[in-house]
Amino acid sequence: MIDIELEEYYSSLGISKKVLEICSKEEFKLREKFIEIDKVAEYNQLKIIKAMQKNKLSDIHFPGTTGYGYNDIGRETLEQVYADIFNTEDALVRPQLISGTHALTIALSGNLRPGDEILSPVGKPYDTLEGVIGITKTKGSLAEYGITYAQVDLLEDGEFDWINIEKSIKSQTKLITIQRSKGYDTRPTLSVKRIGELIKFIKDIKPEVICMVDNCYGEFVEIIEPTDLGADLCVGSLIKNPGGGLAPIGGYIVGKEEYVENAAIRLTAPGQGKEVGATLGVNAPFFQGLFLAPQVVSNALKTAIFCASIYEELGFHVIPSSTESRHDIIQAITLNSAEAILAFCEGIQAAAPVDSFVTPIAAPMPGYNCEVVMAAGAFIQGSSIELSADAPIKPPYTVFFQGGLTWFHGKFGILMSVQKLYNAGIVL
Ligand SMILES: *Cc1c(COP(=O)(O)O)cnc(C)c1O
Repeated sequence: MIDIELEEYYSSLGISKKVLEICSKEEFKLREKFIEIDKVAEYNQLKIIKAMQKNKLSDIHFPGTTGYGYNDIGRETLEQVYADIFNTEDALVRPQLISGTHALTIALSGNLRPGDEILSPVGKPYDTLEGVIGITKTKGSLAEYGITYAQVDLLEDGEFDWINIEKSIKSQTKLITIQRSKGYDTRPTLSVKRIGELIKFIKDIKPEVICMVDNCYGEFVEIIEPTDLGADLCVGSLIKNPGGGLAPIGGYIVGKEEYVENAAIRLTAPGQGKEVGATLGVNAPFFQGLFLAPQVVSNALKTAIFCASIYEELGFHVIPSSTESRHDIIQAITLNSAEAILAFCEGIQAAAPVDSFVTPIAAPMPGYNCEVVMAAGAFIQGSSIELSADAPIKPPYTVFFQGGLTWFHGKFGILMSVQKLYNAGIVL
């Protein structure tokens, strides 16, 4: 029986019979959820193949250009494929967009001018955006260029504060920024449907305002994207979901032609825009990573739900719960102590294909007011579509966990985290 061989193999890797038993029970409970996740992946896989076929993807699109990167047909085809998948007029998909934060910076600074105001109707944006916008005083921020910022928080119950959103849309409001994922916060993640409702409400008040969605961690979790429901711009990182684990760098900006062009002009130079930007050799992994992305995202989702289910069973508070519907790949687990956080991260690290011999320790981090511990053994530095976890060492001791290129690696990582908590006597 293969079950016995598997059990023995897990045991040889340090997973006890007891931990394996608890986890197998949870896995069995999730089988219907897994079928649902597979259906979303199937739909998105077809969507991507259709876009690649429509654009006659071929060998000639894989080699890269050098220097200025004129006439890079691989790059141009890739951008058309992205535009088709996201149902937009245009796309900018570049290795020169060095992170999600950079892609968001380019989308914002390309489309805003002095005197314009940004409104976030969904509360505080992702940590790194605080510096970009200038919510916290930062050299080079948009605030230094005379761009102002307004914010309306979500209500206690996670609903939109319609009344205050309406009041906050003024003559100077040029761009609305909507973050789909909760990021490393504890607010609910927004479904594409809710984002669509919010955009419709805003456009009814002010049709010419630019609605931009920070789509990080959300791509291919549902069968539609925010651009299917009215978003003018959608922005994300290629070392998260849409890179499928293969993109070694990069970001994307999709949306209305005018707004994408404005971003391109800011990325390169006025008068040049999308026409330049060598791809050097990343076209092939960009295409192949995109091709794999729906499957990879489904693996990360299975891992997140498995994690939620087990830690719920062990008595911890998890967000989202194992039964809630999901709109991104992030799982938060409140572990109640620094010791438990370290044990959890040790487990994730010990299960990694890369740097498994390293012990994560807490250390000060720029931008944080406490020590932070991170676990990642990734092929691509900082890639958080790969199995990874990070936690600020402060009450309530919540660890944020995401990724898993393959479900079996994700499962092994969770088993190992439970094992470490078990070995430390934190769970029985
Ligand atoms: C990761 C993330 C970003 C920033 O992306 P980086 O690639 O880490 O710079 C922005 N917004 C959200 C919601 C994210 O999850």
